[in-house]
Amino acid sequence: MSETQHHFIHQRIEHDLASGKHQQICTRFPPEPNGYLHLGHAKSIVLNFGIGQDYAGWTNLRFDDTNPAKEDAAYVAAIQQDVRWLGYTWHAQHFASDYFEALYDYAVQLIRRGQAYVCDLNAEQVRAHRGSLTEPGTDSPYRNRSIAENLDLFARMRAGEYPDGSRTLRARIDMAAPNINLRDPTLYRIRHGLVHHQTGEAWCIYPLYDYTHPISDALEGITHSLCTLEFADHRPLYDWILDNLDFDPRPQQIEFARLNLSYTVLSKRKLTRLVAEGHVSGWDDPRLPTLAGLRRRGYPASAIREFCHRIGVTRADSLVEMAMLESAARDELDQTAPRRMAVLNPLKVVITNYPADQTEALTAPNHPKRDDLGARTLTFSRELYIDQADFRATANKKYKRLVLGGEVRLRHAYVIRAEKIIRDETDQIVALHATYDPDTLGKNPEGRKVRGVIQWVAAATAVPAEVRLYDRLFQVAEPGKTADLINDLNPGSLQIRPDAMLEASLAQADTATPCQFEREGYFCRDITDTADGRPIYNRTVSLRDTWQNI
Ligand code: ATP
Ligand code: MG
Repeated sequence: MSETQHHFIHQRIEHDLASGKHQQICTRFPPEPNGYLHLGHAKSIVLNFGIGQDYAGWTNLRFDDTNPAKEDAAYVAAIQQDVRWLGYTWHAQHFASDYFEALYDYAVQLIRRGQAYVCDLNAEQVRAHRGSLTEPGTDSPYRNRSIAENLDLFARMRAGEYPDGSRTLRARIDMAAPNINLRDPTLYRIRHGLVHHQTGEAWCIYPLYDYTHPISDALEGITHSLCTLEFADHRPLYDWILDNLDFDPRPQQIEFARLNLSYTVLSKRKLTRLVAEGHVSGWDDPRLPTLAGLRRRGYPASAIREFCHRIGVTRADSLVEMAMLESAARDELDQTAPRRMAVLNPLKVVITNYPADQTEALTAPNHPKRDDLGARTLTFSRELYIDQADFRATANKKYKRLVLGGEVRLRHAYVIRAEKIIRDETDQIVALHATYDPDTLGKNPEGRKVRGVIQWVAAATAVPAEVRLYDRLFQVAEPGKTADLINDLNPGSLQIRPDAMLEASLAQADTATPCQFEREGYFCRDITDTADGRPIYNRTVSLRDTWQNI
Protein backbone atom coordinates (compact mmCIF):
# COMPACT_ATOMS: atom_id res chain seq x y z
CA MET A 1 0.00 0.00 0.00
CA SER A 2 1.31 3.38 -0.90
CA GLU A 3 1.82 6.33 1.39
CA THR A 4 0.78 9.88 0.59
CA GLN A 5 3.04 11.52 -1.91
CA HIS A 6 5.20 14.27 -0.57
CA HIS A 7 3.14 17.43 -1.02
CA PHE A 8 3.31 21.15 -0.40
CA ILE A 9 2.15 20.89 3.21
CA HIS A 10 4.95 18.42 3.99
CA GLN A 11 7.42 20.83 2.44
CA ARG A 12 6.09 23.64 4.54
CA ILE A 13 6.33 21.60 7.73
CA GLU A 14 9.84 20.41 6.97
CA HIS A 15 10.85 24.00 6.36
CA ASP A 16 9.39 25.01 9.75
CA LEU A 17 11.25 22.17 11.46
CA ALA A 18 14.53 22.95 9.71
CA SER A 19 14.33 26.65 10.54
CA GLY A 20 13.68 25.86 14.20
CA LYS A 21 10.26 27.56 14.13
CA HIS A 22 8.74 24.43 15.66
CA GLN A 23 10.22 21.47 17.52
CA GLN A 24 7.07 19.41 17.37
CA ILE A 25 4.29 19.42 14.79
CA CYS A 26 0.74 19.54 16.12
CA THR A 27 -2.45 19.39 14.07
CA ARG A 28 -6.17 19.03 14.75
CA PHE A 29 -9.22 17.62 13.05
CA PRO A 30 -12.10 20.02 13.81
CA PRO A 31 -15.53 18.64 12.78
CA GLU A 32 -18.73 20.42 13.63
CA PRO A 33 -21.02 17.86 15.34
CA ASN A 34 -23.95 18.60 13.04
CA GLY A 35 -23.91 15.43 10.96
CA TYR A 36 -21.95 12.27 10.21
CA LEU A 37 -18.46 12.26 8.74
CA HIS A 38 -18.10 11.63 5.01
CA LEU A 39 -15.23 10.89 2.64
CA GLY A 40 -14.31 14.58 2.47
CA HIS A 41 -13.69 14.44 6.19
CA ALA A 42 -11.67 11.26 5.69
CA LYS A 43 -9.32 13.25 3.45
CA SER A 44 -8.88 15.79 6.24
CA ILE A 45 -8.48 13.09 8.92
CA VAL A 46 -5.87 11.16 6.94
CA LEU A 47 -4.03 14.41 6.22
CA ASN A 48 -4.07 15.74 9.79
CA PHE A 49 -3.46 12.49 11.66
CA GLY A 50 -0.97 11.38 9.00
CA ILE A 51 1.10 14.50 9.60
CA GLY A 52 0.95 13.97 13.36
CA GLN A 53 2.30 10.44 12.84
CA ASP A 54 4.84 11.22 10.11
CA TYR A 55 6.54 13.96 12.11
CA ALA A 56 6.32 12.35 15.56
CA GLY A 57 3.90 15.03 16.68
CA TRP A 58 0.26 14.77 17.66
CA THR A 59 -3.27 15.47 16.48
CA ASN A 60 -6.27 16.60 18.50
CA LEU A 61 -9.90 15.90 17.86
CA ARG A 62 -11.78 19.15 18.36
CA PHE A 63 -15.52 19.54 18.08
CA ASP A 64 -16.20 22.90 16.56
CA ASP A 65 -19.47 23.42 18.40
CA THR A 66 -20.36 27.09 18.29
CA ASN A 67 -23.77 26.73 16.63
CA PRO A 68 -26.03 24.83 19.05
CA ALA A 69 -29.02 25.14 16.73
CA LYS A 70 -27.72 22.31 14.54
CA GLU A 71 -25.44 20.33 16.82
CA ASP A 72 -26.13 17.24 18.86
CA ALA A 73 -24.33 14.89 21.27
CA ALA A 74 -25.34 11.93 19.10
CA TYR A 75 -23.16 13.33 16.31
CA VAL A 76 -20.25 13.68 18.74
CA ALA A 77 -20.42 9.94 19.50
CA ALA A 78 -20.75 9.01 15.82
CA ILE A 79 -17.75 11.14 14.87
CA GLN A 80 -15.59 9.60 17.61
CA GLN A 81 -16.53 6.13 16.40
CA ASP A 82 -15.71 6.98 12.79
CA VAL A 83 -12.31 8.50 13.55
CA ARG A 84 -11.37 5.44 15.62
CA TRP A 85 -12.63 3.12 12.92
CA LEU A 86 -10.46 4.89 10.35
CA GLY A 87 -7.56 3.83 12.56
CA TYR A 88 -6.58 7.00 14.39
CA THR A 89 -6.13 7.91 18.03
CA TRP A 90 -6.32 11.51 19.09
CA HIS A 91 -3.85 13.09 21.48
CA ALA A 92 -6.60 15.02 23.28
CA GLN A 93 -10.25 15.69 22.69
CA HIS A 94 -11.61 19.20 23.04
CA PHE A 95 -14.79 21.10 22.40
CA ALA A 96 -14.59 24.67 21.15
CA SER A 97 -17.29 25.23 23.78
CA ASP A 98 -14.69 24.37 26.47
CA TYR A 99 -13.18 27.72 25.55
CA PHE A 100 -16.35 29.83 25.79
CA GLU A 101 -15.18 31.52 28.99
CA ALA A 102 -11.68 32.11 27.61
CA LEU A 103 -13.11 33.36 24.32
CA TYR A 104 -15.27 35.81 26.24
CA ASP A 105 -12.23 37.08 28.14
CA TYR A 106 -10.27 37.52 24.91
CA ALA A 107 -13.18 39.48 23.45
CA VAL A 108 -13.09 41.76 26.50
CA GLN A 109 -9.38 42.23 25.86
CA LEU A 110 -10.06 43.25 22.27
CA ILE A 111 -12.67 45.76 23.50
CA ARG A 112 -10.17 47.16 26.03
CA ARG A 113 -7.69 47.66 23.21
CA GLY A 114 -10.26 49.48 21.11
CA GLN A 115 -10.30 46.59 18.62
CA ALA A 116 -13.86 45.41 19.09
CA TYR A 117 -17.18 47.16 19.60
CA VAL A 118 -20.82 46.42 20.21
CA CYS A 119 -22.85 47.27 17.12
CA ASP A 120 -26.61 47.85 17.14
CA LEU A 121 -27.12 47.40 13.40
CA ASN A 122 -29.30 44.44 12.47
CA ALA A 123 -28.13 41.80 10.01
CA GLU A 124 -29.63 43.56 7.02
CA GLN A 125 -28.08 46.90 7.95
CA VAL A 126 -24.69 45.27 8.51
CA ARG A 127 -24.92 43.82 5.03
CA ALA A 128 -25.85 47.21 3.55
CA HIS A 129 -22.84 48.84 5.24
CA ARG A 130 -20.44 46.16 4.07
CA GLY A 131 -19.94 47.46 0.52
CA SER A 132 -19.03 45.11 -2.31
CA LEU A 133 -16.00 43.69 -4.08
CA THR A 134 -15.66 46.98 -5.97
CA GLU A 135 -16.96 49.44 -3.32
CA PRO A 136 -15.61 50.04 0.17
CA GLY A 137 -17.99 49.65 3.11
CA THR A 138 -19.19 52.42 5.36
CA ASP A 139 -18.54 52.65 9.07
CA SER A 140 -21.21 51.57 11.50
CA PRO A 141 -22.59 54.53 13.49
CA TYR A 142 -21.66 52.52 16.63
CA ARG A 143 -18.03 52.05 15.65
CA ASN A 144 -16.70 54.79 17.89
CA ARG A 145 -18.42 53.89 21.12
CA SER A 146 -16.24 54.36 24.20
CA ILE A 147 -14.43 51.37 25.63
CA ALA A 148 -16.43 51.73 28.83
CA GLU A 149 -19.73 51.64 26.96
CA ASN A 150 -18.63 48.64 24.90
CA LEU A 151 -17.57 46.73 28.01
CA ASP A 152 -20.90 47.47 29.65
CA LEU A 153 -22.96 46.52 26.59
CA PHE A 154 -21.00 43.31 25.99
CA ALA A 155 -21.48 42.24 29.61
CA ARG A 156 -25.20 42.93 29.27
CA MET A 157 -25.35 40.97 26.02
CA ARG A 158 -23.95 38.03 27.96
CA ALA A 159 -26.39 38.63 30.81
CA GLY A 160 -29.28 38.21 28.39
CA GLU A 161 -30.63 41.75 28.42
CA TYR A 162 -31.06 42.04 24.65
CA PRO A 163 -33.08 40.04 22.14
CA ASP A 164 -31.65 37.97 19.27
CA GLY A 165 -30.31 40.04 16.41
CA SER A 166 -30.41 43.35 18.26
CA ARG A 167 -26.68 43.64 18.87
CA THR A 168 -23.42 41.98 17.85
CA LEU A 169 -19.81 42.27 18.88
CA ARG A 170 -17.65 43.20 15.89
CA ALA A 171 -13.92 43.45 15.33
CA ARG A 172 -12.83 46.99 14.58
CA ILE A 173 -10.56 46.47 11.58
CA ASP A 174 -11.14 48.37 8.36
CA MET A 175 -14.41 48.98 6.51
CA ALA A 176 -12.45 49.83 3.36
CA ALA A 177 -10.29 46.70 3.38
CA PRO A 178 -10.14 45.06 -0.07
CA ASN A 179 -10.77 41.73 1.69
CA ILE A 180 -14.41 41.86 2.78
CA ASN A 181 -13.69 39.46 5.65
CA LEU A 182 -11.76 42.30 7.30
CA ARG A 183 -14.65 44.80 7.15
CA ASP A 184 -15.42 44.68 10.86
CA PRO A 185 -16.48 41.02 10.98
CA THR A 186 -18.94 39.82 13.59
CA LEU A 187 -17.33 38.01 16.52
CA TYR A 188 -20.38 37.30 18.70
CA ARG A 189 -24.11 37.10 18.16
CA ILE A 190 -27.05 36.73 20.54
CA ARG A 191 -28.91 33.38 20.43
CA HIS A 192 -31.57 32.86 23.12
CA GLY A 193 -33.52 29.73 23.88
CA LEU A 194 -31.00 27.17 22.65
CA VAL A 195 -29.75 24.24 24.69
CA HIS A 196 -26.11 23.58 23.85
CA HIS A 197 -25.12 19.90 24.04
CA GLN A 198 -22.12 20.80 26.23
CA THR A 199 -22.89 24.09 27.96
CA GLY A 200 -26.66 23.79 28.27
CA GLU A 201 -28.28 27.16 28.79
CA ALA A 202 -25.24 28.86 30.30
CA TRP A 203 -24.79 31.14 27.31
CA CYS A 204 -27.01 33.31 25.18
CA ILE A 205 -24.18 34.78 23.14
CA TYR A 206 -22.16 32.55 20.81
CA PRO A 207 -18.79 33.24 19.16
CA LEU A 208 -18.47 32.84 15.41
CA TYR A 209 -16.22 30.33 13.68
CA ASP A 210 -13.69 32.88 12.37
CA TYR A 211 -13.14 34.17 15.88
CA THR A 212 -13.26 30.83 17.69
CA HIS A 213 -11.01 28.82 15.43
CA PRO A 214 -7.69 30.69 15.65
CA ILE A 215 -7.96 31.05 19.43
CA SER A 216 -8.86 27.36 19.88
CA ASP A 217 -5.88 26.40 17.71
CA ALA A 218 -3.55 28.67 19.68
CA LEU A 219 -4.78 27.48 23.08
CA GLU A 220 -4.13 23.86 22.10
CA GLY A 221 -0.67 24.57 20.74
CA ILE A 222 -1.59 23.64 17.17
CA THR A 223 1.29 24.50 14.83
CA HIS A 224 -0.40 23.94 11.46
CA SER A 225 -4.12 24.51 11.06
CA LEU A 226 -5.16 22.78 7.84
CA CYS A 227 -8.45 23.71 6.22
CA THR A 228 -10.10 23.75 2.83
CA LEU A 229 -9.52 26.42 0.18
CA GLU A 230 -12.68 28.42 0.82
CA PHE A 231 -11.02 29.65 4.02
CA ALA A 232 -8.04 31.18 2.21
CA ASP A 233 -9.77 34.58 2.21
CA HIS A 234 -10.36 34.23 5.94
CA ARG A 235 -6.67 33.73 6.73
CA PRO A 236 -5.98 37.48 7.17
CA LEU A 237 -8.70 37.55 9.83
CA TYR A 238 -7.29 34.39 11.47
CA ASP A 239 -3.92 36.13 11.66
CA TRP A 240 -5.42 39.45 12.77
CA ILE A 241 -7.09 37.87 15.78
CA LEU A 242 -3.95 36.04 16.90
CA ASP A 243 -1.73 39.10 16.32
CA ASN A 244 -4.01 41.39 18.25
CA LEU A 245 -4.23 39.01 21.18
CA ASP A 246 -0.41 38.61 21.22
CA PHE A 247 -0.35 34.87 20.70
CA ASP A 248 3.23 33.76 20.18
CA PRO A 249 4.12 31.31 18.78
CA ARG A 250 1.00 31.19 16.73
CA PRO A 251 -0.52 28.53 14.49
CA GLN A 252 -0.26 28.79 10.74
CA GLN A 253 -3.37 28.23 8.63
CA ILE A 254 -2.71 26.33 5.39
CA GLU A 255 -5.43 25.59 2.86
CA PHE A 256 -5.86 22.58 0.57
CA ALA A 257 -8.47 21.59 -2.03
CA ARG A 258 -11.56 19.84 -0.73
CA LEU A 259 -12.46 16.41 -2.04
CA ASN A 260 -15.25 16.30 -4.60
CA LEU A 261 -16.33 12.85 -5.72
CA SER A 262 -18.38 12.05 -8.81
CA TYR A 263 -21.88 10.52 -8.57
CA THR A 264 -22.27 11.49 -4.93
CA VAL A 265 -22.47 14.51 -2.64
CA LEU A 266 -19.95 15.45 0.05
CA SER A 267 -21.77 18.06 2.04
CA LYS A 268 -23.41 17.52 5.39
CA ARG A 269 -26.22 19.85 4.41
CA LYS A 270 -27.11 17.73 1.36
CA LEU A 271 -26.57 14.44 3.17
CA THR A 272 -28.78 15.65 6.03
CA ARG A 273 -31.51 16.34 3.50
CA LEU A 274 -31.25 12.84 1.96
CA VAL A 275 -31.57 11.32 5.43
CA ALA A 276 -34.29 13.67 6.72
CA GLU A 277 -36.48 13.27 3.64
CA GLY A 278 -36.12 9.49 3.65
CA HIS A 279 -34.36 9.09 0.31
CA VAL A 280 -31.97 6.74 2.12
CA SER A 281 -32.50 4.53 5.17
CA GLY A 282 -30.31 6.59 7.52
CA TRP A 283 -26.83 8.03 7.93
CA ASP A 284 -25.38 4.53 7.56
CA ASP A 285 -27.23 3.68 4.36
CA PRO A 286 -24.60 1.72 2.38
CA ARG A 287 -25.14 3.97 -0.66
CA LEU A 288 -24.03 7.09 1.18
CA PRO A 289 -20.42 8.35 1.16
CA THR A 290 -20.55 8.64 4.96
CA LEU A 291 -17.94 6.65 6.86
CA ALA A 292 -20.80 4.87 8.64
CA GLY A 293 -22.35 3.96 5.28
CA LEU A 294 -19.05 2.80 3.78
CA ARG A 295 -18.30 0.69 6.87
CA ARG A 296 -21.70 -0.96 6.62
CA ARG A 297 -21.19 -1.46 2.91
CA GLY A 298 -18.00 -3.40 3.70
CA TYR A 299 -15.30 -0.92 2.77
CA PRO A 300 -12.23 -1.69 4.87
CA ALA A 301 -10.88 1.36 6.71
CA SER A 302 -7.50 0.62 5.14
CA ALA A 303 -9.00 0.97 1.64
CA ILE A 304 -10.35 4.40 2.53
CA ARG A 305 -6.95 5.47 3.88
CA GLU A 306 -5.35 4.13 0.72
CA PHE A 307 -7.82 6.08 -1.42
CA CYS A 308 -6.91 9.26 0.49
CA HIS A 309 -3.23 8.56 -0.14
CA ARG A 310 -3.84 8.03 -3.85
CA ILE A 311 -5.80 11.27 -4.38
CA GLY A 312 -3.04 13.29 -2.74
CA VAL A 313 -3.24 16.85 -1.44
CA THR A 314 -3.09 19.88 -3.73
CA ARG A 315 -4.39 23.42 -3.99
CA ALA A 316 -6.36 22.75 -7.19
CA ASP A 317 -10.04 21.84 -7.02
CA SER A 318 -10.97 18.72 -8.95
CA LEU A 319 -13.63 16.05 -9.26
CA VAL A 320 -12.30 12.65 -8.26
CA GLU A 321 -13.79 9.62 -10.01
CA MET A 322 -15.83 7.26 -7.87
CA ALA A 323 -13.93 4.52 -9.72
CA MET A 324 -10.80 5.47 -7.75
CA LEU A 325 -12.49 4.68 -4.48
CA GLU A 326 -13.81 1.41 -5.84
CA SER A 327 -10.44 0.31 -7.17
CA ALA A 328 -8.79 1.04 -3.81
CA ALA A 329 -11.36 -1.31 -2.25
CA ARG A 330 -10.89 -3.99 -4.93
CA ASP A 331 -7.11 -3.90 -4.62
CA GLU A 332 -7.33 -4.46 -0.90
CA LEU A 333 -10.14 -7.03 -0.90
CA ASP A 334 -8.55 -9.06 -3.68
CA GLN A 335 -5.62 -9.68 -1.32
CA THR A 336 -7.56 -10.28 1.86
CA ALA A 337 -11.08 -11.53 1.18
CA PRO A 338 -11.72 -15.27 1.44
CA ARG A 339 -13.52 -16.68 -1.61
CA ARG A 340 -16.99 -18.07 -1.13
CA MET A 341 -19.81 -19.29 -3.35
CA ALA A 342 -23.24 -17.72 -3.41
CA VAL A 343 -26.13 -18.07 -5.81
CA LEU A 344 -28.12 -14.85 -5.99
CA ASN A 345 -31.02 -16.05 -8.19
CA PRO A 346 -31.24 -19.77 -7.50
CA LEU A 347 -32.21 -22.44 -10.01
CA LYS A 348 -32.50 -25.94 -8.54
CA VAL A 349 -30.42 -28.62 -10.26
CA VAL A 350 -31.04 -32.34 -9.62
CA ILE A 351 -28.06 -34.54 -10.50
CA THR A 352 -30.02 -37.59 -11.55
CA ASN A 353 -27.06 -39.99 -11.58
CA TYR A 354 -25.91 -38.99 -8.08
CA PRO A 355 -27.38 -41.15 -5.29
CA ALA A 356 -30.00 -39.38 -3.15
CA ASP A 357 -28.50 -40.70 0.10
CA GLN A 358 -24.94 -39.71 -0.71
CA THR A 359 -23.01 -36.53 0.13
CA GLU A 360 -19.38 -35.74 -0.38
CA ALA A 361 -17.07 -33.33 1.39
CA LEU A 362 -14.89 -31.40 -1.04
CA THR A 363 -12.03 -29.18 0.01
CA ALA A 364 -11.77 -25.73 -1.54
CA PRO A 365 -9.03 -23.19 -0.85
CA ASN A 366 -10.15 -19.92 0.74
CA HIS A 367 -7.96 -17.88 -1.59
CA PRO A 368 -6.42 -18.78 -4.95
CA LYS A 369 -3.07 -17.14 -4.15
CA ARG A 370 -2.83 -17.34 -0.38
CA ASP A 371 -2.38 -20.77 1.15
CA ASP A 372 -2.09 -19.09 4.54
CA LEU A 373 -5.82 -18.40 4.46
CA GLY A 374 -6.52 -22.14 4.56
CA ALA A 375 -9.45 -24.02 3.09
CA ARG A 376 -13.08 -24.79 3.76
CA THR A 377 -15.29 -27.78 3.10
CA LEU A 378 -18.02 -27.79 0.49
CA THR A 379 -20.74 -30.43 0.51
CA PHE A 380 -21.65 -31.98 -2.81
CA SER A 381 -25.05 -33.67 -3.08
CA ARG A 382 -27.77 -34.65 -5.51
CA GLU A 383 -29.63 -31.35 -5.25
CA LEU A 384 -27.82 -28.11 -5.88
CA TYR A 385 -28.48 -24.52 -6.81
CA ILE A 386 -26.89 -22.61 -9.65
CA ASP A 387 -27.71 -19.08 -10.77
CA GLN A 388 -30.56 -18.62 -13.23
CA ALA A 389 -28.22 -16.42 -15.28
CA ASP A 390 -25.86 -19.40 -15.73
CA PHE A 391 -28.35 -21.53 -17.65
CA ARG A 392 -30.07 -21.10 -21.01
CA ALA A 393 -32.02 -23.66 -22.96
CA THR A 394 -30.13 -22.64 -26.08
CA ALA A 395 -27.35 -20.18 -26.72
CA ASN A 396 -24.65 -19.45 -29.22
CA LYS A 397 -21.00 -20.48 -28.76
CA LYS A 398 -20.08 -17.27 -26.96
CA TYR A 399 -22.15 -18.31 -23.97
CA LYS A 400 -19.65 -20.06 -21.69
CA ARG A 401 -22.15 -21.36 -19.20
CA LEU A 402 -24.70 -24.14 -19.17
CA VAL A 403 -27.02 -24.93 -22.09
CA LEU A 404 -29.32 -27.88 -22.59
CA GLY A 405 -27.18 -30.82 -23.73
CA GLY A 406 -24.00 -28.90 -22.88
CA GLU A 407 -21.47 -29.14 -20.08
CA VAL A 408 -20.09 -26.76 -17.49
CA ARG A 409 -17.72 -27.18 -14.56
CA LEU A 410 -19.04 -26.58 -11.08
CA ARG A 411 -16.30 -24.69 -9.27
CA HIS A 412 -14.16 -26.96 -7.05
CA ALA A 413 -16.37 -29.93 -8.03
CA TYR A 414 -17.50 -31.91 -11.06
CA VAL A 415 -18.47 -31.28 -14.65
CA ILE A 416 -22.22 -31.55 -15.19
CA ARG A 417 -24.40 -31.83 -18.29
CA ALA A 418 -27.85 -30.22 -18.51
CA GLU A 419 -30.35 -32.88 -19.55
CA LYS A 420 -33.89 -31.63 -19.08
CA ILE A 421 -35.88 -28.61 -17.99
CA ILE A 422 -38.65 -29.29 -15.47
CA ARG A 423 -41.58 -26.86 -15.62
CA ASP A 424 -44.64 -26.39 -13.45
CA GLU A 425 -48.20 -26.16 -14.70
CA THR A 426 -47.75 -22.42 -15.50
CA ASP A 427 -44.73 -23.24 -17.64
CA GLN A 428 -42.26 -21.70 -15.17
CA ILE A 429 -38.90 -23.45 -14.94
CA VAL A 430 -38.70 -25.02 -11.48
CA ALA A 431 -35.66 -27.22 -11.84
CA LEU A 432 -33.09 -28.62 -14.14
CA HIS A 433 -32.19 -32.27 -14.43
CA ALA A 434 -28.50 -32.86 -15.02
CA THR A 435 -25.92 -35.62 -14.87
CA TYR A 436 -22.42 -35.43 -13.51
CA ASP A 437 -19.22 -37.04 -14.70
CA PRO A 438 -17.62 -38.75 -11.65
CA ASP A 439 -14.25 -38.71 -13.37
CA THR A 440 -13.90 -34.90 -13.44
CA LEU A 441 -13.10 -34.01 -9.86
CA GLY A 442 -9.95 -31.90 -10.02
CA LYS A 443 -9.22 -32.96 -13.60
CA ASN A 444 -10.45 -32.27 -17.09
CA PRO A 445 -12.71 -34.74 -18.84
CA GLU A 446 -11.11 -36.96 -21.48
CA GLY A 447 -11.46 -35.87 -25.07
CA ARG A 448 -13.73 -32.85 -24.58
CA LYS A 449 -13.20 -29.30 -23.57
CA VAL A 450 -15.36 -27.64 -20.90
CA ARG A 451 -14.92 -23.92 -21.05
CA GLY A 452 -17.21 -22.51 -18.44
CA VAL A 453 -16.93 -22.64 -14.67
CA ILE A 454 -19.86 -21.56 -12.52
CA GLN A 455 -20.58 -21.28 -8.81
CA TRP A 456 -23.08 -23.52 -7.02
CA VAL A 457 -24.25 -24.42 -3.54
CA ALA A 458 -25.62 -27.69 -2.19
CA ALA A 459 -29.37 -27.43 -1.47
CA ALA A 460 -29.30 -29.36 1.81
CA THR A 461 -26.70 -27.19 3.50
CA ALA A 462 -27.32 -23.84 1.75
CA VAL A 463 -27.84 -20.76 3.92
CA PRO A 464 -30.81 -18.71 2.70
CA ALA A 465 -29.97 -15.00 2.70
CA GLU A 466 -30.98 -11.63 1.36
CA VAL A 467 -28.37 -10.01 -0.85
CA ARG A 468 -28.36 -6.29 -1.55
CA LEU A 469 -26.68 -4.95 -4.65
CA TYR A 470 -25.90 -1.26 -4.81
CA ASP A 471 -25.45 1.06 -7.69
CA ARG A 472 -24.50 4.71 -7.55
CA LEU A 473 -26.92 6.80 -5.54
CA PHE A 474 -27.04 9.44 -8.26
CA GLN A 475 -27.25 8.94 -12.00
CA VAL A 476 -25.24 12.04 -12.91
CA ALA A 477 -21.61 12.84 -12.13
CA GLU A 478 -22.38 16.14 -10.41
CA PRO A 479 -25.72 15.77 -8.63
CA GLY A 480 -27.73 18.94 -8.17
CA LYS A 481 -25.71 20.87 -10.70
CA THR A 482 -28.51 21.58 -13.16
CA ALA A 483 -31.64 20.62 -11.23
CA ASP A 484 -32.75 19.76 -7.73
CA LEU A 485 -30.53 17.11 -6.22
CA ILE A 486 -33.47 14.78 -5.67
CA ASN A 487 -34.21 14.63 -9.42
CA ASP A 488 -30.75 13.20 -9.97
CA LEU A 489 -31.21 10.21 -7.64
CA ASN A 490 -30.71 6.84 -9.35
CA PRO A 491 -33.99 4.91 -8.92
CA GLY A 492 -32.12 1.61 -9.32
CA SER A 493 -29.47 2.27 -6.67
CA LEU A 494 -30.62 -0.63 -4.48
CA GLN A 495 -31.51 -4.05 -5.88
CA ILE A 496 -32.52 -6.82 -3.55
CA ARG A 497 -32.02 -10.53 -4.16
CA PRO A 498 -34.40 -11.90 -1.51
CA ASP A 499 -33.88 -15.63 -2.16
CA ALA A 500 -30.13 -15.95 -2.38
CA MET A 501 -28.40 -19.17 -1.28
CA LEU A 502 -24.96 -19.12 0.31
CA GLU A 503 -22.47 -21.91 0.89
CA ALA A 504 -22.70 -23.46 4.34
CA SER A 505 -19.45 -21.97 5.65
CA LEU A 506 -21.18 -18.55 5.67
CA ALA A 507 -23.68 -19.65 8.33
CA GLN A 508 -21.17 -18.76 11.03
CA ALA A 509 -19.48 -15.86 9.24
CA ASP A 510 -18.94 -12.76 11.34
CA THR A 511 -19.81 -9.29 10.23
CA ALA A 512 -16.24 -8.08 10.27
CA THR A 513 -14.82 -10.30 7.53
CA PRO A 514 -15.61 -9.28 3.97
CA CYS A 515 -15.52 -12.04 1.39
CA GLN A 516 -15.60 -12.46 -2.33
CA PHE A 517 -18.65 -14.24 -3.75
CA GLU A 518 -16.97 -15.76 -6.75
CA ARG A 519 -18.00 -14.09 -10.02
CA GLU A 520 -20.31 -11.67 -8.15
CA GLY A 521 -18.13 -9.23 -6.25
CA TYR A 522 -17.00 -8.45 -2.72
CA PHE A 523 -19.60 -8.72 0.00
CA CYS A 524 -19.97 -8.36 3.73
CA ARG A 525 -22.61 -9.24 6.22
CA ASP A 526 -24.86 -6.35 7.19
CA ILE A 527 -24.21 -5.08 10.69
CA THR A 528 -27.61 -3.51 11.23
CA ASP A 529 -30.38 -5.66 9.73
CA THR A 530 -31.35 -9.27 9.27
CA ALA A 531 -34.20 -10.41 7.04
CA ASP A 532 -36.42 -12.29 9.52
CA GLY A 533 -33.38 -14.01 10.97
CA ARG A 534 -31.72 -14.64 7.64
CA PRO A 535 -28.39 -12.88 7.14
CA ILE A 536 -28.24 -9.90 4.81
CA TYR A 537 -25.20 -9.44 2.64
CA ASN A 538 -24.20 -6.13 1.06
CA ARG A 539 -22.18 -5.94 -2.09
CA THR A 540 -19.26 -3.65 -1.36
CA VAL A 541 -18.07 -3.46 -4.94
CA SER A 542 -18.29 -5.58 -8.07
CA LEU A 543 -15.25 -7.47 -9.36
CA ARG A 544 -14.70 -5.15 -12.29
CA ASP A 545 -15.47 -1.55 -13.05
CA THR A 546 -18.61 -1.67 -15.17
CA TRP A 547 -18.87 2.12 -15.38
CA GLN A 548 -15.57 2.85 -17.04
CA ASN A 549 -16.77 3.97 -20.45
CA ILE A 550 -20.04 5.55 -19.53
P1 ATP B 1 -19.77 20.12 5.12
O1 ATP B 1 -19.81 21.12 4.01
O2 ATP B 1 -19.93 18.73 4.66
O3 ATP B 1 -20.67 20.47 6.27
P2 ATP B 1 -17.74 21.20 6.68
O4 ATP B 1 -16.43 21.69 6.19
O5 ATP B 1 -18.72 22.22 7.10
O6 ATP B 1 -18.30 20.21 5.64
P3 ATP B 1 -16.79 20.38 9.20
O7 ATP B 1 -17.34 19.41 10.16
O8 ATP B 1 -16.76 21.79 9.58
O9 ATP B 1 -17.59 20.20 7.87
O10 ATP B 1 -15.36 19.91 8.69
C1 ATP B 1 -14.35 19.39 9.51
C2 ATP B 1 -13.08 19.38 8.74
O11 ATP B 1 -13.19 18.54 7.60
C3 ATP B 1 -12.71 20.76 8.24
O12 ATP B 1 -11.35 20.98 8.51
C4 ATP B 1 -13.02 20.71 6.78
O13 ATP B 1 -12.18 21.55 6.06
C5 ATP B 1 -12.78 19.24 6.44
N1 ATP B 1 -13.60 18.85 5.30
C6 ATP B 1 -14.95 18.88 5.19
N2 ATP B 1 -15.34 18.51 3.96
C7 ATP B 1 -14.21 18.24 3.26
C8 ATP B 1 -13.94 17.81 1.92
N3 ATP B 1 -14.92 17.58 1.05
N4 ATP B 1 -12.65 17.62 1.56
C9 ATP B 1 -11.66 17.83 2.43
N5 ATP B 1 -11.84 18.24 3.70
C10 ATP B 1 -13.10 18.45 4.12
MG1 MG C 1 -18.33 23.54 8.75
